[in-house]
Amino acid sequence: MDEVWINETLYVAWGQRFRIRRELARVKSDFQDIVVFESETHGRVLVLDGVIQITEADEFVYQEMLTHVPLLAHAGPRNVLIIGAGDGGVLRRVLLHRTVQRAVMVEIDGEVVRLSKEFLPGIAGTAWDDPRAEVIIGDGVDYVVRAPAASFDVIIVDSTDPVGVGEVLFTDEFYRHCARVLTTDGIIVNQCGVPFMQSDELRETSRRRARFFPYVSAYVVAVPTYVGGFMTLGVACNAEGLTADVERIRQRAKQAGILGTTRYWSPELQAAAFALPPYIAECLPRR
Ligand code: SAM
Repeated sequence: MDEVWINETLYVAWGQRFRIRRELARVKSDFQDIVVFESETHGRVLVLDGVIQITEADEFVYQEMLTHVPLLAHAGPRNVLIIGAGDGGVLRRVLLHRTVQRAVMVEIDGEVVRLSKEFLPGIAGTAWDDPRAEVIIGDGVDYVVRAPAASFDVIIVDSTDPVGVGEVLFTDEFYRHCARVLTTDGIIVNQCGVPFMQSDELRETSRRRARFFPYVSAYVVAVPTYVGGFMTLGVACNAEGLTADVERIRQRAKQAGILGTTRYWSPELQAAAFALPPYIAECLPRR
């Protein structure tokens, strides 16, 4: 039988490809082209507009770091807002934290949620049915514009890159309202791409976050299928202390009930992830 491959279209002249065992879904939603396939090497894979979003094999790497770092940098997160993250992986990790009382997830494309539930059930597990979870199909920027002030302790933005529907999540208006919606010790984290290939994403969004938050930083995570080296997660808040000491992070993780549930995140790694290579650190605003 002829081999079938899919080439990621993220970069024009370079990229990864997967040999497809079986295509499971191909849908053109109101917002993007969605493909779910069974790969030969990474389990099932979700692709949006030709860009790899998550694979069953390595989604734990990204979702653990995007979720546990801000929740454990905060002294006691109770209300968490998740924007994007239609596969449900961030929602599942947020709800692992016993401290969390409410997790609101705002995903613009209901087809991503529907297809993730049907073809990638292991990513979210039972999170969709957790009584603390509220899943809203809508634009994340519309939600934060309407949300009450100081109503969330942590905002996690797991969006596509700043093109198409994701673009509004990288704007001044979005960050202005996030700053208003967060509590005074609140923390926001955004996926900011792979600086080796997309340095503008971290540079530009950090510059924008610095207009609304006094403390802007980033940390790194090595996600095998986000090709190009370290993936960066931009973070902003009103006070320093994100890179808390390892023992304090460990204690918080124990209280939250997540110690021992992870395969990439650890207390040591949380602290180390903020030690940025110079080519990434230079993308951050000078303090
Ligand atoms: N981990 C992936 C990455 O780093 O590129 C992101 C995964 S997640 C599937 C991205 C989600 O963001 C998609 O489901 C997309 O529909 C959603 N999204 C994009 N723009 C959005 C917006 N303005 N409001 C809410 N969700 C949005």
